[in-house]
Amino acid sequence: MGNLLEVKDLHVSFQTYAGEVKAVRGVNFELKEGETIAIVGESGCGKSVTAKSIMKLLPTSSVRYKQGSIEFYGKNLLANSEKDMQRIRGKQISMIFQDPMTSLNPTSKIGNQIIEAILRHNNISRKEAFNKALNMLELVGIPQASKRIHQYPHEYSGGMRQRAMIAIALACNPRLLIADEPTTALDVTIQAQILELMKEIQQKMGTSIILITHDLGVVAEMCERVVVMYAGQVVETASVRDLYQKPQHPYTEGLLKSIPKLNMDKKQPLAPIIGTPPDLLDPPKGCPFFARCEYAMNVCKNHNPELEEVSPGQFAACWLHHPMAKQGDGKGKANAITINRN
Ligand code: SF4
Repeated sequence: MGNLLEVKDLHVSFQTYAGEVKAVRGVNFELKEGETIAIVGESGCGKSVTAKSIMKLLPTSSVRYKQGSIEFYGKNLLANSEKDMQRIRGKQISMIFQDPMTSLNPTSKIGNQIIEAILRHNNISRKEAFNKALNMLELVGIPQASKRIHQYPHEYSGGMRQRAMIAIALACNPRLLIADEPTTALDVTIQAQILELMKEIQQKMGTSIILITHDLGVVAEMCERVVVMYAGQVVETASVRDLYQKPQHPYTEGLLKSIPKLNMDKKQPLAPIIGTPPDLLDPPKGCPFFARCEYAMNVCKNHNPELEEVSPGQFAACWLHHPMAKQGDGKGKANAITINRN
């Protein structure tokens, strides 16, 4: 199947009083028609900035798209005017956010909000739009949809509000749904229901999904491929299976060690990744993970590794995969000498 979306060498910065924050620094990935991928990483790694760049939803006063392109059906979205983007948002690409209350209008009935979304992009009567809105609410599993369609957001529970958001996002049958931490604010059982719902809808409607999350547990449920971001860069990309079974970047390895497993001893502590990501006002010259990496070598300090294919379909940006490092113990330990992290 062809690519729906291709993000190529994307660089996005923000102009702030303190200087230029280089939030996204050379991101590349693609998404096929009907595919679900995840972009994972800690807060501030650039995953949400990447997602909002696709929708061109970043504040125009401070954002600078410095380099690269975002091709949707082969057309660069970054070259689009705001008017072009208004035609694409909601119709071809939709987004759902962590907190539905910030996206839903508290003074408008849920039904009206879905109807407005439908009428914005379709030349149909209000009655037809109402029927479609009702169908959408039923599709996303809102109980007593014919009654609930007349209610306000505050009359819905947190899980139902997220379902209503999904109904609005999918009302025009977009080809791409971007879900930015869609379940983070929900409790675990509701979270599982929402993920299940997204999976079902993906299968029914064939929508491609980009799931933005910091939670690798959520990824295993939903996605086929994962893009791992760190300090504004992609450090690893692989199928979910390869990523969980044989992570090839020390940061991915650290992320996996920091999540609880079903079969682990309850007394066994989780292993957090010590330290903090670099300051993107002044990103390091070398590998951005250098200060936190247990395998760091001298080369890592001043040279930033490129993303290379390390096994079929699995890419990592790490000097450990360089032939010289492999002459060590396979994890680069033999070469990881005399490191001065200052
Ligand atoms: Fe660690 Fe070096 Fe690999 Fe960076 S390039 S992740 S510092 S081993």
